[in-house]
Amino acid sequence: MRGNEIIKGNLIQAFLYNGIAIPVARASLYPVTREVIEMAMDPVCNMVVDEKKAAATADYKGKTYYFCAPGCKKAFLQNPEKYLKPSK
Ligand SMILES: [Zn+2]
Repeated sequence: MRGNEIIKGNLIQAFLYNGIAIPVARASLYPVTREVIEMAMDPVCNMVVDEKKAAATADYKGKTYYFCAPGCKKAFLQNPEKYLKPSK
């Protein structure tokens, strides 16, 4: 499914479409191209998360990760490396 997103740490390039952040790799699916912004990505479920509205955050190895829900943070903290492996 995924693999084309541009990932920098846990930030991906995305743009806002109708208030929803769309990863740039999927931008071709949407008719309007907006300014590209950097958004955090939930490493557990790969949802794009607005850093200001993240339901939960966690610091791991000096980086802050953002989660869509407390459950994702919990899953991440139980096995961070599982979720931080580069996707292929
Ligand atoms: Zn999540």
